[in-house]
Amino acid sequence: MGGVRLVLFGAPGVGKGTLAEMIKSEYKVPHISTGDMFRELVKERTEAGRIVSEYMNEGKLVPDDIVIGVLRDNMKDDEKGFILDGFPRTRKQAEALQSMLDGKRISLDAVINFEAPAEVLAERLSGRRQCRDCRAIYHIKNMPPKKSGICDICGGELYQRDDDRREVVVVRLKVYEEETAELIDYYRRKDLLKSVDASNDPETTFKEVKTALIGSLRVAGNSNSDG
Ligand code: ADP
Repeated sequence: MGGVRLVLFGAPGVGKGTLAEMIKSEYKVPHISTGDMFRELVKERTEAGRIVSEYMNEGKLVPDDIVIGVLRDNMKDDEKGFILDGFPRTRKQAEALQSMLDGKRISLDAVINFEAPAEVLAERLSGRRQCRDCRAIYHIKNMPPKKSGICDICGGELYQRDDDRREVVVVRLKVYEEETAELIDYYRRKDLLKSVDASNDPETTFKEVKTALIGSLRVAGNSNSDG
């Protein structure tokens, strides 16, 4: 049957990456972040990495064909469960995901839609720091590391992502509204959408996630006969 199959959805800065790690510890399934995959690709300094970095640094979406190809390569074991973070971000990506899952005769358990006001998003993005090595996420005010600039988990260096600069953040929030937000309706119509208030601290949001998932996971755990 496999573990949970979730999509984490929401605007940049809403906390998908942080919550994905908490959900991963609880449900023991892989965290698949397209943003992290692309940051790794950029590090490799290949032609593909150079193309991707141009889109990311401007806050624009990487073209669907590239995203879907990269995702396919990273979802070979998806029967075992997964947490998708940052994918899908367009209608075309959502349809590609659906056909990948249909091909394996599996389905999503839920799409968690994290919601927070715009000013909270902007504040979180501007204070965010990430570990260069293990990719753990911190916030200079809300979740500071024990030692400034150093990752608590692996001792790696913390840095500010290029796309967390204010002028790029503005573009990313706009791109989310124009290209991604329509998926809320798409998943609502499929009866998969669970909206969660993400304006509080991560532990509070995580409790809300678990509450939101109760019904979905019970169904996922049964080999549902009447559906
Ligand atoms: P956030 O959700 O905070 O914007 P991510 O790490 O998920 O951060 O994404 C960073 C950047 O990576 C995006 O601005 C975009 O350029 C690229 N990216 C990530 N996922 C996708 C995707 N599914 N489709 C297109 N571009 C993506």
